Amino acid sequence: MKITALKTFIVPPRWLFLKIETDEGVSGWGEPVVEGRAHTVETAITELADYLIGKDPRLIEDHWTVMYRGAFYRGGPILMSAIAGVDQALWDIKGKALGVPVHELLGGKLRDRIKVYSWIGGDRPADIAAGALDVTSRGFTALKMNGTEELQIVDSHDKIDAVVERVASVRQAVGPNIGIAVDFHGRVHRPMARALVKELDPYRLMFIEEPVLSENREALKEIASFSSAPIALGERLYSRWDFKSVLEQGAVDIIQPDLSHAGGITECRKIAAMAEAYDVALAPHCPLGPIALAACLQLDAVSYNAFIQEQSLGIHYNSTNDLLDYASDKSVFQYEDGYVAIPDGPGLGIEINEEYVMERAKEGHRWRNPIWRHKDGSFAEW
Ligand SMILES: [Mg+2]
Repeated sequence: MKITALKTFIVPPRWLFLKIETDEGVSGWGEPVVEGRAHTVETAITELADYLIGKDPRLIEDHWTVMYRGAFYRGGPILMSAIAGVDQALWDIKGKALGVPVHELLGGKLRDRIKVYSWIGGDRPADIAAGALDVTSRGFTALKMNGTEELQIVDSHDKIDAVVERVASVRQAVGPNIGIAVDFHGRVHRPMARALVKELDPYRLMFIEEPVLSENREALKEIASFSSAPIALGERLYSRWDFKSVLEQGAVDIIQPDLSHAGGITECRKIAAMAEAYDVALAPHCPLGPIALAACLQLDAVSYNAFIQEQSLGIHYNSTNDLLDYASDKSVFQYEDGYVAIPDGPGLGIEINEEYVMERAKEGHRWRNPIWRHKDGSFAEW
């Protein structure tokens, strides 16, 4: 079997899909995108194609090694997202060629389903308790919300009061048994992070995400000492080598590698196994499309330390197209009692509606994240 073509599709709301074709009629799909840089990653794919065309798609480990190590300059969001999408598509091809799901090739699934959480409130959370009730009425038992809007490196305490008020309103609305995760989204800097996590402690959070940016990880251990909630981080880390120091430091309880940013299934499986050796949990990051989610579920299926999966149905980013629009079978990710079943179809377990992908690729997108500013005119982390 030989790879004959790598075709990319930039599709709304902010995704990039990749289809790898072979000379035996089997093809596979991947989602090689980093949000806001879809066209840049698309170019990286065309450069990888120079090497991949004509190769046997089933030699995934070798191709991964060449794509990563053979670049000489390696790592980072663009290159690792490009590798991730290719890797997903290669696993999809291999599974489809053999007629088995990817998790079968990875040793067989150790769980039948996994808990999922839903986003509430968007970027500037208002009336968030109603959003929480809507989500729990649809069966979700866990949800995630942004903590704060703009927060300067040192800011006034009323901003902290506003976060606490929002989280309190959600906890009051859903009761004690719904998991609430609060994402600080890298908007919080070290001087404010301690007070925030301390004041949120009474609300028994499921986890606190990115209490500071991962590049400021040396502050994590001290911040974590002010919170009994697990600390989660990792959507902006791209390889085993990026996760190595985070795990060694011992300040995170949950890692959140993104299957479309951190080298795909091949690399994230190794990251997950590294984390397991540190007794650290796995909750793959996935605010992306259906192929990325399918890849996540294949990893969740074989990872003992996975406990919950992010998914983007109805997320605030999906204003033009939503998670299921590109799937031929809309029931593939049917949520039940807050869980999603591990897909058992061949490959990634999802069929993509190529006709619709091609139609939406004519519109494409140029999604960029918002640029925020503080009251004094300086840049604010979004
Ligand atoms: Mg996040």
